[in-house]
Amino acid sequence: MARRTKVYEGKAKILYEGPEPGTLIQYFKDDATAFNAEKRDVIEGKGVLNNRLSEYFMTGLNNIGVPTHFIRRLNMREQLIRAVEIIPLEVVVRNIAAGSISKRLGIEEGTPLPRPIVEFYYKNDALGDPLVSEEHILAFGWATHQDLDDIVALALRVNDFLSGIMTGVGIKLVDFKIEVGRIYEGDFQRLVVADEISPDSCRLWDIKTGRKLDKDVFRRDLGNLSEAYAEVARRLGVMPSNATPITKPKLMN
Ligand code: UDP
Repeated sequence: MARRTKVYEGKAKILYEGPEPGTLIQYFKDDATAFNAEKRDVIEGKGVLNNRLSEYFMTGLNNIGVPTHFIRRLNMREQLIRAVEIIPLEVVVRNIAAGSISKRLGIEEGTPLPRPIVEFYYKNDALGDPLVSEEHILAFGWATHQDLDDIVALALRVNDFLSGIMTGVGIKLVDFKIEVGRIYEGDFQRLVVADEISPDSCRLWDIKTGRKLDKDVFRRDLGNLSEAYAEVARRLGVMPSNATPITKPKLMN
């Protein structure tokens, strides 16, 4: 087999050239980083879990008509995706105050927000992904007005979808981050959810106990990260391929 061409390597994933034009292979590493990569570790099994979980969420979104870059999972660590032009924004949706909004605005972690809040951060590691306003985005041409309308609509649909799924398995969706990509089709372009959706990019709290089931376990040294992600996967019925498959999520009461 010919050696694959690496297109890009990020902190948690690698992109390789795909088998057909317009496709890429996304490989999930076990590397965990936080605080703009100041804290780093290798967490065995994380990549396999995130590949599965991202497949689960992206497939669900595709099925309800929210377009994503996801085509299909290839193996334990890889998935086939559509090549997109990434809009240089991290789009965060918050339902409950935590993390940076709590610090910035002095809102106690765990405070429900009056409505979902959508925020934009400029994707730039050297600057530490600063919070930006629509004014900045439009002035610097990172996205158009129409793009921003579409991005907010996509982000809120993802929020409704993910919140519903999580509530069903006893988990609160506190916040999450998505990235959005542009796909060109002839003279048209459309925006799709890209990158990944996994506990690396969400805050997930157990409804009953408040236990954190997301990357804060790593950021704040709260225990075993793989175990937390495996708990999310187990509740959703998304198991590693060597385990007994469960086809339906286990609903919690
Ligand atoms: N997030 C992410 N990547 C980033 C920054 C944030 O996936 O580079 C996610 C994070 O996991 C959380 C949400 O976006 O679910 C909001 O993060 P926040 O702004 O509170 O920043 P943090 O406290 O993680 O620095």
